[in-house]
Amino acid sequence: MLVILMGPPGAGKGTQAERIAREFDLLHVSTGDMLRSAVKDKTTLGEKAKAYMERGALVPDELVIAIIKERLADTDCAGGVLLDGFPRTVEQAEALEQVLDDLSLKIDAVINVDVAKDELLNRLTGRRVCRGCASTYHIKFNPPRVRNICDHCSGELYQRSDDTVDTVKERLDVYSKQTHPLIEYYQRKNIYHAVDGARSIEAVFEEIAAYLEKSKIKGN
Ligand code: ADP
Ligand code: ADP
Ligand code: ZN
Repeated sequence: MLVILMGPPGAGKGTQAERIAREFDLLHVSTGDMLRSAVKDKTTLGEKAKAYMERGALVPDELVIAIIKERLADTDCAGGVLLDGFPRTVEQAEALEQVLDDLSLKIDAVINVDVAKDELLNRLTGRRVCRGCASTYHIKFNPPRVRNICDHCSGELYQRSDDTVDTVKERLDVYSKQTHPLIEYYQRKNIYHAVDGARSIEAVFEEIAAYLEKSKIKGN
């Protein structure tokens, strides 16, 4: 099974991806997480991506397409993948189709989690991420059991440097211009499903899970 989770920054993609991947036994592949690791490890990719990420711009298509192409060819992806944060441009979506063709794979579902802009700002500026396992929390909406400590791995929580008000505004702009057109791209295909992401984490999860359950049955 190959599922794409789409939506503006802060919609809850990472939060839902963690749960959906566990429930459906899919591998959670997040280009954002991969790029942040590369920046932290100061790899060649990280050095190239860093400045774009810091100012809230998209990393150039060719770099992101290359890492996804390599990742999807890994043997651990054979059991099913949940893509979070990729594709983010029509060019990336077209490149993905080529990559999947070459691997004899196809997209089973595209889930778009939608949330209004004001709420996205609240969510992103209160977001905290685990240094150890990249789990996501929110200081008000989804706090850890112990302040600043990850429930899963006891890692320390931090605030992403791009989760400040100014950079968030830039990222929301970038989303409208470069990623939002992808909705129409996937709507034309039969695999698109929009979810109202303004509800509780649990309610959004239930809807996505029910939809995937249905598409799994259809796909089999
Ligand atoms: P994305 O990966 O789409 O950028 P995240 O999953 O990181 O989004 O969520 C952004 C922030 O909003 C996080 O702090 C997360 O804990 C919080 N959050 C996610 N889903 C919800 C929800 N349904 N209601 C309230 N807060 C949420
Ligand atoms: P968000 O939680 O805002 O959805 P991500 O963690 O997915 O953010 O991405 C963080 C940053 O990493 C983006 O602002 C962008 O600079 C870069 N990035 C992640 N995925 C992609 C992609 N598919 N194409 C280009 N840049 C990306
Ligand atoms: Zn953790």
